[in-house]
Amino acid sequence: MNKQLANDLSQLDSLLNTIKEQGLDFLSTVNERPTSIDPPSAKHEVLPENGIGALEVLKAFNNKFEPLIVGSSGPRYWGYVIGGATPASVIGDWLTTIYDQCPFVTKGHGDLSAIIEQETIAQLLELFELPNDFTGGFVTGATLSNFTCLATARQWVGTQNGEDIAKKGVQNTIPILSASPHSSVVKSLSLLGLGSTNIIAVQTMEGDREAIDISALKRQIEALNGQPFILISSAGTVNTVDFDDFEAIAQLKQQHNFWWHIDAAFGGFAACSSSHKQLIKGWENADSITLDCHKWLNVPYESAVFLVKKAHQRLQVETFQNSNAPYLGDQVENFNFINFLPENSRRLKALPAWFSINAYGKSGYRDIVDNCIAMANRLGDFIVADHRFELLAPVRLNTVCFTLSNPDDSAAFLNQLNATGKVFMSPTVFQGKKGIRAAFVNWRTTSQDVDLVIELMKGIVQ
Ligand SMILES: *Cc1c(COP(=O)(O)O)cnc(C)c1O
Repeated sequence: MNKQLANDLSQLDSLLNTIKEQGLDFLSTVNERPTSIDPPSAKHEVLPENGIGALEVLKAFNNKFEPLIVGSSGPRYWGYVIGGATPASVIGDWLTTIYDQCPFVTKGHGDLSAIIEQETIAQLLELFELPNDFTGGFVTGATLSNFTCLATARQWVGTQNGEDIAKKGVQNTIPILSASPHSSVVKSLSLLGLGSTNIIAVQTMEGDREAIDISALKRQIEALNGQPFILISSAGTVNTVDFDDFEAIAQLKQQHNFWWHIDAAFGGFAACSSSHKQLIKGWENADSITLDCHKWLNVPYESAVFLVKKAHQRLQVETFQNSNAPYLGDQVENFNFINFLPENSRRLKALPAWFSINAYGKSGYRDIVDNCIAMANRLGDFIVADHRFELLAPVRLNTVCFTLSNPDDSAAFLNQLNATGKVFMSPTVFQGKKGIRAAFVNWRTTSQDVDLVIELMKGIVQ
């Protein structure tokens, strides 16, 4: 064995204790970490011929990189939609690394990790109050989840037209209807050979809405003359967290032949709330749903799930099957994750989520979600009350989309606010107006955090 490897192995006890202390130090001071830094120069060190061992590398890391790690998992990072990591999820994540398992098959190979993944999916369905006629799995993020769902949708459309797209490739343009798709949906369509510019844009509702105008949707469906198509709808648009009318879409699905996908990356968590469940009413009728876990479930990156109706399992296998070996038998019956999703080898991605949902239960997630909604409203109430600011859209769930009374001042204001290092928000443009977005998805955020930021905002605004 290499000398440094042997040395590290003999010191594993003290190495792991050192890292435990360092982890604890970070997690107990993450509130005070700056939320942004000036990026260092991109100068690379040369890789040494002989390694220096784990402890020396840790010292080098602590000198060079550690002080620059930002508090993006802390309570005042409201940019993009960035979650934190609950204590239980950190434990689950550490153990994922320690055990280093790969969830391939559930049957015949004694691989428990695939069984853990299936149990986690079943429990997530309970958390989201979804019926158990969905199956699913873990992928790296909502981008890959959208990709997985839309790949199966693509196969469905092919089957409707008597084509096997997985085998023969895309021969014809597939109609894809959507109003306010997330950028990752557009990217997925490009990856899938469906064409990112082939989206047929459905009109949104009037006013400050990003949701589908249902009567416009009906007209567009009729214009397709019965051609099978894919409808991509939103449970939580990025700018204003708008929701399509799922009950109305479910009714349309009874009359028309389409695959219905919902990107519910973070908006799906409305299902956990005590007050906002009505936003996702009817979503259980979709064919596929995307949910991000590294956002509002507050587990570490990389974690998201895709949910696809069990009735479509064969289409999913046709799309993702990794092996045509006859000895594997029926690939729906002999369930094997490698035939249901893009990756072959994966880490045991479900374990952090399994730890967290079991550690905090339904009520724990109700508290996290309700608290984030309350924090968004606390900031939103301040914006409404202060004439120097203006809401660009109502606070529908957990995000505040606002601007300054002169929207053109918002960029300079945001730069100054983010430069304090005490908070981070994202720039946006909504209906032609420059604005700012603050998204609340972190379990740590308290009203003191919001009040601290409000005082900073008052100090900066003219
Ligand atoms: C964040 C997000 C995505 C992409 O998720 P990743 O985890 O970054 O891959 C997709 N859709 C919506 C609505 C999102 O908010």
